[in-house]
Amino acid sequence: MPELDADIDRSHSFGDLAFGQIKGRKLSAMPRNYEVWYTYASGYHTELSDAVNEVLSSRRAIAQDDLDRIYEAYLSQTRLTDKIDVFGDRVVDEIEHVMTMIDSAAGHATAYGQDLAGASAKLATTGSTEGLRSIIENLVRSTREIEANNKALEQRLKASRTEIKQLQENLDAVRTESLTDPLTSLGNRKFYDQAISKSLALANKSGTPMALLISDIDHFKKFNDTFGHLTGDQVLRLVALSVKQNVKGQDLACRYGGEEFAIILPDTTLRAAVTVAEHIRRAVMTKELIKRSTSENLGRITVSLGVAAFRPGDTVATLYERADRCLYAAKRNGRNRVICETDPEADSVPAKVA
Ligand code: GH3
Ligand code: MG
Ligand code: MG
Repeated sequence: MPELDADIDRSHSFGDLAFGQIKGRKLSAMPRNYEVWYTYASGYHTELSDAVNEVLSSRRAIAQDDLDRIYEAYLSQTRLTDKIDVFGDRVVDEIEHVMTMIDSAAGHATAYGQDLAGASAKLATTGSTEGLRSIIENLVRSTREIEANNKALEQRLKASRTEIKQLQENLDAVRTESLTDPLTSLGNRKFYDQAISKSLALANKSGTPMALLISDIDHFKKFNDTFGHLTGDQVLRLVALSVKQNVKGQDLACRYGGEEFAIILPDTTLRAAVTVAEHIRRAVMTKELIKRSTSENLGRITVSLGVAAFRPGDTVATLYERADRCLYAAKRNGRNRVICETDPEADSVPAKVA
């Protein structure tokens, strides 16, 4: 098939171009990077190409951060949308099948009804045993037919039920995926936005306490610059693990962005939230970082945390701003610490402009 061969040839040249970019720019050949460069080489995705060109025209080296951002913006969602499209098509197919079955079942029922009516009319006029036998034989045949049809219908409906259940599960999985940060498997920013709105609405309605923790890794840029972005990513996973291990049940841990995490603590007072924050801080600082590939000891990493508690009338922005102000105070006061909004240090810094 010459057309297919041409397609394969073209894909190889896109692949070569992508790999050339990765090698030439000394970037990691991880699949996400390859996907960005392959898509760029193909030129099929205008927005992605524009985004890459913009970085290239800035005359600075394209960094892993740039590729991550471009992947998130243009490819990760496309993948989800594609999946949703496939499931959507299957749902439409399944509905069409069920509709056809309903139509044919209705047709069979009508035909059977007509057979019965016909038999009844004939019974009124027939006097002979022979005639009676023929009417009964016809009725038995029609009944068997409708029985067989019903059985087939039942089986097809059962199969549809299984298929629909499977589609429901797939859709749930895609929904979860769209709200999960792939690196840390914590909730992503979209999840945070939804969760904080819900939690605030609940707190405003019920008056129950609620707290927000924001954590940020200390001097993470230096860590990345020293040990590389991939090792930095492993550290992000480790910090996420420390967060996960120190929150429970209804608490909602999210990767707010980059190296910043937000943890929503429903039904929790400021004091209790500070305790959780302290546990996270200590868990992170006590972990010794060993690079798996070389067994090199990378030292330790620390986090700073800001804690704010819900006040009636709070919005997503006001609550976040108070927690962020505390985080900023924690950084200013030496890092590797927790500051909450009733600490005197919290007031000593201006709020960061968003
Ligand atoms: P500070 O203690 O003031 O927070 O210093 P910092 O260096 O951590 O803060 P800054 O905001 O200057 O830098 C954040 C750095 O985090 C920038 C980037 O190198 C790194 N970073 C952000 N997102 C990611 C990521 O997804 N993976 C990795 N490896 N690093 C990231
Ligand atoms: Mg930061
Ligand atoms: Mg930081």
